[in-house]
Amino acid sequence: MRVATSVIEIINPATQQKVGEVPIYDRAQVQAAVESARKAQGAWAAYSFRRRAQVLYRYRDLLIDNKERIADVLTGETGKPRGDVYTVELFYLCDSIGFWASRARKLLANQKIRPHLLKNKSVYSSYLPIGVVGIIGAWNFPLNLTIGDAIPALMAGNSVVIKPSEVTPLSALLAAELAAAAGFPPGVLQVITGRGETGAHLVDFADMIHFTGSIATGTKVAERAARALKPVTLELGGKDPMIVLRDADLDRAANAAVWGALVNSGQVCVSVERVYVEEPVYQEFVNRVVRLVKGLRQGSSEADIDIGAMTFPPQVEKVERHVADAIAHGAKVLTGGRRNSRLPGLFYEPTVLIDVDHSMKALREETFGPLLPIMKVRDEEEAIRLANDSVYGLSASVWTKDIARGRALAHRLESGGVCVNDCLVHYLTIDAPMGGRKQSGLGRRHGPEGIRKYCHQQTIVVDRFGMKTELLWYPWSPFKTRLFSRVLNLLFRSGWKKRFFG
Ligand code: NAD
Repeated sequence: MRVATSVIEIINPATQQKVGEVPIYDRAQVQAAVESARKAQGAWAAYSFRRRAQVLYRYRDLLIDNKERIADVLTGETGKPRGDVYTVELFYLCDSIGFWASRARKLLANQKIRPHLLKNKSVYSSYLPIGVVGIIGAWNFPLNLTIGDAIPALMAGNSVVIKPSEVTPLSALLAAELAAAAGFPPGVLQVITGRGETGAHLVDFADMIHFTGSIATGTKVAERAARALKPVTLELGGKDPMIVLRDADLDRAANAAVWGALVNSGQVCVSVERVYVEEPVYQEFVNRVVRLVKGLRQGSSEADIDIGAMTFPPQVEKVERHVADAIAHGAKVLTGGRRNSRLPGLFYEPTVLIDVDHSMKALREETFGPLLPIMKVRDEEEAIRLANDSVYGLSASVWTKDIARGRALAHRLESGGVCVNDCLVHYLTIDAPMGGRKQSGLGRRHGPEGIRKYCHQQTIVVDRFGMKTELLWYPWSPFKTRLFSRVLNLLFRSGWKKRFFG
C-alpha cells in the first residue's frame, strides 16, 4: 500500500495489483458521521425487535445474492482462498444475523428481580441502547470483525459507525452499500475509512467502542476512551497453546494442528501458535504434522488451493524475523521457513519448527503467520506451566481421550476459552461468550454478554403500596435509632436468622 495524503490505495496481496482506493476521513468528517448516526438512532431504537429483525433478514438475503461479488472483493483485498470467504466470513456473518435477530428480544428483555429485603418494592432491570457504537476492526477477517460485530449492536437499537482496517476496507464498504439497499434507515449503519487517526477520532465521538486489533493499539484506544469514561471492549492478540497428551488421538490432533495453525495463513487471533507434546508421542506427532503440511497447496485465491497469500506486508516480515530468531537460538525448520519464491505476492511457505523453547520470539510473541512451532514436554505439568507462561490469554486447546482430564486441565489454563479435542471452533459457537484474559482483551463478544455490552443496564424500582412515608425517611427519632440498632442485632448476628437472611 502506497502512502497518500487523502486516499489509501488497496493492493491485492496475491497479485500486487491495485484493487481500489478509499478516502481518509478527517476529524470533522468523523464527527459528522457520528452526528448523523446519532440523529438516526432514536427512530431505529423505536422500531420493534421484530421490525429490526426484518431489516436484518432482508440484509442477509442480499448478502447471499451478492456472495460472488463479496468473495471477489474479499479475496482481492486479503489474498485468502474463496473457501475461507464462504465459511469463516460469510457463513459466520449470515449465521450471526439469524442468531441475534431471533434472540435479541429475549436476551434484552426486562429482568424481574425479587428483592430479598425490600418486599414493598417491585424491581426490574432493563437494557437500553447506548447510542452510537463505534466499531474499529482488524484486517484478518474484514467482514466479521466489522459488520459481524455490528449486528448485535444494531439489534440492540444502536446505530453503528465502522472504521475498518486501512488494509482491507473494501468489503465493509460493499456491505454498507448492501445495508442501505436492505432498508436500514440512512445513518444507522455507516462505514468510514482511514488509518489510525480516523479510528482515534471515532473513539472521541462515539458513545462506546468495540475494538479488534493489536495489544498496542487496544491500549491506546482504552486510554483515549478512559478520558471520557467511555465503555470499550477490546478483542486483542493471542499466542494460543495446544497441549497434546500421550493418550491423544494423534491423527485428529495432527490434522487440527495443521489447520488451526495455517488457516487464513495463520492470521487468526485464535490460531494455534505453539504446540506442546508429551515426550512419548512427540516424534510420531511431528512426523504426521510434517507429512500433512508438505501436502498443502499454496497459491492465488482463484486457484484450487488450501493456503492463500498473507494480507499485510509487515506481517510477512514479522514471520521472517520470528523464524530467523528461532534458528539463531537453535530451532530446526522441518518444512517451509522462507517466502514462496514461485508466487509473486505475499506468500510465506507453511512452516514447521522443532527444537524450540521459550527464549524464542516464535514461542513468546504473537506471530500471526503460517508458522507451527512444536515443543517436546516431559509431562502435563510442564505443558501447563509453559502454556501459562505468556502475557496472552485468548484461547487454548487440550488433546486427550480422557475428557474429564481434558476438562480439568482446561480450567488450569489462563485463557478466555479452551477447546478439548478441537480448536478455533469456540469462535463459531456464538451462543457462548468469547474473549481474552490477561493482555488478550477486555469484555466478550458472543453469548448474552455479546449483545448486553452494547446497552446501558438500567434498574427500575417501583413502590408497591404508596404509603405516606417510609421508615428511612425524615424525621429521624430516638425511637427509630433504637429500632435499627435492634434490627441490626436481629438480622446480622450469627445464629438461626442466617438461614433466612443470608
Ligand atoms: P492494529 O491494532 O494495527 O489495527 C486495528 C485497527 O485499529 C485498524 O482499523 C487501525 O486503523 C486502527 N487504529 C490504529 N491506531 C489507532 C488509534 N490510535 N486509535 C484508534 N484506532 C486505531 O491491528 P491489526 O494489525 O489490524 O490486526 C491484527 C491484530 O488483531 C492481531 O494482534 C490479532 O490477534 C488481533 N485480532 C484479535 C481478534 C480477537 O477477537 N481477539 C480477532 C482478530 C484479530
